[in-house]
Amino acid sequence: MLQQALHDPLVAELMGSHTRVSALLTVHDEGLRTLSASKHFRQLLGHSSNGQALLARYGQTITDNLQSALSEGSGWTGSVRIQAQWVSLRLLPWNGLGLLEETPLQPKTEPATPSAAVGLDFPPAVGTLVLHLNDQGIILGASESLGVFMGQESSELKGVDALNLVYRSDAGQFKRLLDQVKYRTTASEGAFRMRNADNQVLLLDWTAAGDGNDIILVGRQSQHHVEAALLQSEERINSILESMSDAFFAIDLHGHISYVNAKGAELLGKPAQLLLGRVLWDRAPQMKKTQLFHTINQAKGSLQPETFQWQNPQDEVWYQIKAYPSQDLISVFFTDISTIKRSENNMRHQAMHDTLTGLPNRLALSQVLDELLNTQAVTQMNMGLLFIDLDGFKAVNDTLGHDKGDELLIAVSKRLKGVVRNSDIVARLSGDEFVITLPYIPGHEAAFNVGRKVVDAVSKRPYELADKAIYIGASVGVALYPEDAQDVESLLKHADIAMYQAKQAGKNTVRMFHSAMSTSLQTKVNLENELHHAIVHDRMELHYQPRMNPQGKVCAVEALARLRNTQGDLVAPLHFIPIAEETGLIIAMGAQVLKKACEWIGQLNTELSEPIGLSVNVSGIQLLDGHLTQTVADVLRDTGFPPHLLELELTETVLMQNHESVHEDLVTLHNMGVHLSIDDFGTGYSSLSMLHKLPVQSIKLDRSFVCELPNTPDSVIITRTVLAMATALGLGVVAEGVETDEQRDFLIDSGVQELQGFGLAKPMTDTDLQAFLKAQNIPGKLGLHLLAGPAPTQPSGQALGAGIGQVVLDAKPN
Ligand code: C2E
Ligand code: CA
Ligand code: CA
Repeated sequence: MLQQALHDPLVAELMGSHTRVSALLTVHDEGLRTLSASKHFRQLLGHSSNGQALLARYGQTITDNLQSALSEGSGWTGSVRIQAQWVSLRLLPWNGLGLLEETPLQPKTEPATPSAAVGLDFPPAVGTLVLHLNDQGIILGASESLGVFMGQESSELKGVDALNLVYRSDAGQFKRLLDQVKYRTTASEGAFRMRNADNQVLLLDWTAAGDGNDIILVGRQSQHHVEAALLQSEERINSILESMSDAFFAIDLHGHISYVNAKGAELLGKPAQLLLGRVLWDRAPQMKKTQLFHTINQAKGSLQPETFQWQNPQDEVWYQIKAYPSQDLISVFFTDISTIKRSENNMRHQAMHDTLTGLPNRLALSQVLDELLNTQAVTQMNMGLLFIDLDGFKAVNDTLGHDKGDELLIAVSKRLKGVVRNSDIVARLSGDEFVITLPYIPGHEAAFNVGRKVVDAVSKRPYELADKAIYIGASVGVALYPEDAQDVESLLKHADIAMYQAKQAGKNTVRMFHSAMSTSLQTKVNLENELHHAIVHDRMELHYQPRMNPQGKVCAVEALARLRNTQGDLVAPLHFIPIAEETGLIIAMGAQVLKKACEWIGQLNTELSEPIGLSVNVSGIQLLDGHLTQTVADVLRDTGFPPHLLELELTETVLMQNHESVHEDLVTLHNMGVHLSIDDFGTGYSSLSMLHKLPVQSIKLDRSFVCELPNTPDSVIITRTVLAMATALGLGVVAEGVETDEQRDFLIDSGVQELQGFGLAKPMTDTDLQAFLKAQNIPGKLGLHLLAGPAPTQPSGQALGAGIGQVVLDAKPN
């Protein structure tokens, strides 16, 4: 019983209240006990459940009164002074328990006889009432007694709708009684209450009879003393319900509305009078679609409260509906949760949208794609996916700042939206990456054309940023469903691969995906993993290629990096250096190569009569990284390798970009005693006069000139000019890629200081190099003989193994 009472929404609300003083009471072992009390009351009573606390608060007379009312199952009201404050006490019988509420009285209403402490407020005794109505419920006549109760002449009631005199929550009972007698000639019984202008309520038992037109109602007052108190409590409950911001309905198990508060009437869009006694589903058919209908049909007998959400289709307001069934009534609360819903929606929107451009984000895109690929209409057609990456966005961001970068992205997203149809979906993946989904595209050509339109839209017109006209470009990759991929992930990946190819092909390019791309990218990804693995486990291998002076003596070796893949094969730098540079792995790799080479050559030098130099390749990325000088200093210190024997081969591109920090680093390296040279000279844009400004001591003439010597006039002229100017500027010249006798002779004649190439010695492993150098180190026995064809087996010659196959050291002195 207690559980049931506590489940009652009203009791629950009272008990949970921090402001109300109310308690649920029972009589136990001849004494008054508190079963539950509102939070506020618990504080006042000190959490005691026995009657002592109540006794202490209200005194003997009041507690006796409460106890006897409770034992009789009747209500009671009274007032009492607690400290300086008068409070009114009301006890309402509630399922065999008593619901007590204490409310402070205003000072003015202090009772004249406080010691009596009891002041019942009864409506006047009226005896029997008679009402004569037409079939519409309009009063045709009323007894004098009704006039007394209503406080006006009974004749004045003529023409008034009797419903107006009926206590609001009993309107249902009233109407049902009228309906019953309207169509039947036998008398019917019923009970409903009437209310007067002073808000006094009278409970009456009615007998009604009709003759097909008029209806006569005879009412007799029922045990009004108890009822009056009860009604007042109920009145108060009603006033709580009326002041609530929730819509509230009490419905019986057949769906008849027996009470509806003002908000409830507002929700259904009809005055309460038209709702009371009516079946909820008839008055509000839209509710029939809600779970409420189901709940109520299920609720018969069950006492499980139910909560669910419902959006009113009429005004789109979201409600949380709580239904509390009891034995014969279901109390239903509708709480407006639109604000919560709105913020929920906002959050969902935020999770699915890019805040900068308002476009759907990656998450939203993959959801939409998933949905599309599950749609029949799409799966029977082609769907195109454009992967877009802006060209030159980073430069804008770096030079004009992030704010302008953001502005640019917003402008681009507008152009992208403008270029496609409404049914196409533009999404931003990250940074300057966008994706456009084209559902229902006829085929490749159509998708490609959209790609072109995208490129044009992005690149043809300038963007006004920071008072400047800025141009940027776009690279677009296109993949088609179902031809190129059958699932969302592969579709995105393949469009991305195609975009990557478009980037490689130059700016403002569109590329369609084809399967060969996927394999090449897969190889690339594998290689990147291998490289990463090799660097982490310090497994990079090195080959060394000797550099010789015109007399054939090895004066230095160039360290060349090799990657051994998991199959055990050696991978050439041509394949992995670009990836190392792209991924930044080159920084770690470069440091490892430098250290390994310095260690090995440093050790070799201890075995040689004259130490040789070491040249190591340095990528532009390493120079830009800004840590090169420190790395070199560390390696020199750790390995003890003499700086003057170390040469760093630099590439032109970065040097020509004139970065101040790069220039400073070069000066630092130079001051450390390290030798600097320009690799592949002649292929880039560097001019000798530019080099003069850099602390560089030599150049390596690129293989592409050397291989055309001595028969191509242009190469001859270039070689001679470069050599002459280099000499004038005090720079040394090394010729690389020397393969033939003619090339060697021509270069020596032209005055190069050093030669390098397969014709002299191929790159070789560290142990081969050791053997090669030891053989060369035999004093007085050295000379160089270059072979254009296969190596002849000369008895006096000494072949030095596969690594140096084409070179034979001639025992005859030159
Ligand atoms: P590079 O610096 O120009 O190195 C010389 C390349 O030419 C080497 O190729 C070498 O094997 C090859 N070569 C030497 N003589 C001849 C010849 O007579 N004919 C022909 N056809 N080729 C010859 P490799 O070892 O494949 O290296 C390729 C490039 O990879 C190097 O070009 C260099 O730029 C880069 N590289 C190699 N190791 C490293 C390294 O440790 N760090 C950096 N940053 N780059 C490296
Ligand atoms: Ca080199
Ligand atoms: Ca080179």
